[in-house]
Amino acid sequence: MLIKKITKVENMIDTHIHSDTRPYEDFERMALSLDGVITLAHDPLKPYSMDVLRAHFDRLIEGEIERGKKNGLKVFVCLGIHPRMIPPDVNYSMLKEYLKNKHVVGVGEIGLEKSSKEEIEVFERQLLIAQGLNLPAVVHTPRRNKKEVTKTILEIIDSLSLKKDMERRIVIDHCNKETVSMIYDRGMYIGLTVQPGKLTPGEVVEIVKEYEGDRSLLNSDSSSAPSDILAVPRTVLKMKMEEIEEEIIKKVSYINAKVLFNLKV
Ligand SMILES: [Zn+2]
Repeated sequence: MLIKKITKVENMIDTHIHSDTRPYEDFERMALSLDGVITLAHDPLKPYSMDVLRAHFDRLIEGEIERGKKNGLKVFVCLGIHPRMIPPDVNYSMLKEYLKNKHVVGVGEIGLEKSSKEEIEVFERQLLIAQGLNLPAVVHTPRRNKKEVTKTILEIIDSLSLKKDMERRIVIDHCNKETVSMIYDRGMYIGLTVQPGKLTPGEVVEIVKEYEGDRSLLNSDSSSAPSDILAVPRTVLKMKMEEIEEEIIKKVSYINAKVLFNLKV
């Protein structure tokens, strides 16, 4: 009886993956259910120099968009310096040039891992660059000390006195049940990552019920760590089975992402 109520799953975007870590075959699998994915810069290699990041950015912009095209999957890109990928010769003007590329839809992922002085400085600079270029920013929060580090991130954002418009375009990603409210209350987006060790589809259902899908973005963070490339469609199905309203499901799995990142899908 319940199954009869489940309507067709349509229009979905995975807002946070690392497609360069995934095999070619995954692209078609994702394209079967997703309208698009956002692939973000991360920490694929040791950052011996800014040139390593440049090679990584090129791979995302050229290689990954092309691999997507060959499989019918629309790939959008966010670029930035991940807290685990800070080179000794950080070059912000080079980063800015890359961020002006027409395929880039945001700055990310940036954020903090251990909250070192260096991480904080690089994070602050990139938030200001995002504001200057009028781009949304995707902020990583670590698995360890998530609550503490999230608090520090919010304090840093406060200290920068960003324009209200910019603050409202910040995604604090990989939220958990402990951190969701402090982020939501500040008017920022909550990134809901369904991945082993992060959220389960069931936990997402609880959060979505509470916030009715406002400022919420669903993603799989598919990477070289254990991941589920179908986490978004799987969670959408779970939401339908739990009888969450169609409008709310659409917001979390598609509309919020399309609007925030201005995606042409
Ligand atoms: Zn990630």
